[in-house]
Amino acid sequence: MEIAKLTIASIQEALRARRVSARELAQEALRTAREENPKTNAYLLLAEDRALRAAEAVDAALARGEDPGPLAGVPVAVKDNIVTRGVRTTCGSRLLEKFVPPYDATAVERLERAGAIVLGKTNCDEFAMGSSNENSAFGPVRNPVAPDRVPGGSSGGSAAAVAQGTAVAALGSDTGGSIRQPASFCGVAGLSPTYGRVSRYGLVAFASSLDRIGPLARNVRDAAMLLQAVAGRDERDSTSAFAPVPDYQASMTGEVRGLRVGVPREYFQGLTPDTAAQMEKARALLVSLGCELRGISLPHTAYAIPCYYIVCTAEASSNLARYDGVRYTWRSPQAGTLAEMYSMTRGQGFGAECKRRIMLGTYVLSAGYYDAYYLKAQKVRTLITRDFLAAFEQVDAIATPVSPFPAFRLGEKLDDPLQMYLSDIFTITASLAGLPALSVPCGRTPEGLPVGLQLIGPHFGEPLLFRLGEAFERAGGGSL
Ligand code: GLN
Repeated sequence: MEIAKLTIASIQEALRARRVSARELAQEALRTAREENPKTNAYLLLAEDRALRAAEAVDAALARGEDPGPLAGVPVAVKDNIVTRGVRTTCGSRLLEKFVPPYDATAVERLERAGAIVLGKTNCDEFAMGSSNENSAFGPVRNPVAPDRVPGGSSGGSAAAVAQGTAVAALGSDTGGSIRQPASFCGVAGLSPTYGRVSRYGLVAFASSLDRIGPLARNVRDAAMLLQAVAGRDERDSTSAFAPVPDYQASMTGEVRGLRVGVPREYFQGLTPDTAAQMEKARALLVSLGCELRGISLPHTAYAIPCYYIVCTAEASSNLARYDGVRYTWRSPQAGTLAEMYSMTRGQGFGAECKRRIMLGTYVLSAGYYDAYYLKAQKVRTLITRDFLAAFEQVDAIATPVSPFPAFRLGEKLDDPLQMYLSDIFTITASLAGLPALSVPCGRTPEGLPVGLQLIGPHFGEPLLFRLGEAFERAGGGSL
């Protein structure tokens, strides 16, 4: 059983036919991950004991003739900003280098309840701030498709693990594009669900009004199955939605004829020629599937980057205040006084990007600037949301590139935060509006670098996105 070739359906079939045991699968996945990890640095930790125990529970259930669950035996990697009981969770930060959480995130609990095997924790930008995975305190991740390039970020480790074939699927988190952009850079599928669709309980907070947990997988169907297991109301997260979770598998009928797909003109500017060429092919494929493409406009798109970087830094400055040297493990050993404990712990513990955001966020929330920046950004956020709501009166879904460019070289944008922020120019609008958005592979550039197509849907429109994305994939979208 080659982990890189498995899908969730093939695992289900093999387990039930007794051609393999969950334990054998988990051992093979752990072995492959151990062997392959030095090439990418995708995993920060392999949770061997936990994985084997979970696999044994699946085998025991099968032996008793019980249903071991829809994700039985599926090796899944989990981003290291999602807490795991008894398994170190660092958020890519020195500050949490030794933090062992006392509880599981709801999403992890639900994955395991569905029979999945949590293999390990994946590398990410520190507290999920970044677009390249270079902000991790534990070294960057390399893109398995092109090792001199970044895998994207901040869920770069999760995307790389799936692309490299060490995990069948993974959980990531997306605040402004952190699932979709790495999925596109590594050539896998990734979904940022509707805000509130998946409980954030146990997701270490970056920007609470934007953060979501979502799936990455080698195909759309597997991403849908992962979402199925983790979605739904959770009493422990008051922002999780009561909306019932539909049957996502049933939505993938392959029938997309007559769907109206909006093509917003603001999203087709500034693309590299190779990305533009792939988008042309994607549009032609959608037309050949019977979709009706409509040119639309989302006029406030130009304000998305400044709006996002005000809202997310404001929330981050507040959320990150808890890392003070008193709670959560690390404390600067040089600190003598109380004031030194705070300043040295934070000064030495946080990386440059986190500090930049804490300072920016504190500034935009400060008396005198609050109205000019934070309040204004909230108003702009509403305008961006209204653009989408108006568009969804005319179209069923919206298609855009995920990123203006494919994976860039390690170090290329590190000294220029503004250039780095532009990686998310097409993903943060759906984040600000709370909308679901799916990244599906859309072929490769002549250099062999993956390109992603983003499909944005109305709130709770995941079934439609899966239907469209799966049809696109089945029609050869991935090898355009
Ligand atoms: N790259 C964006 C940022 O740095 C998005 C990160 C994310 O979605 N977590 O904020």
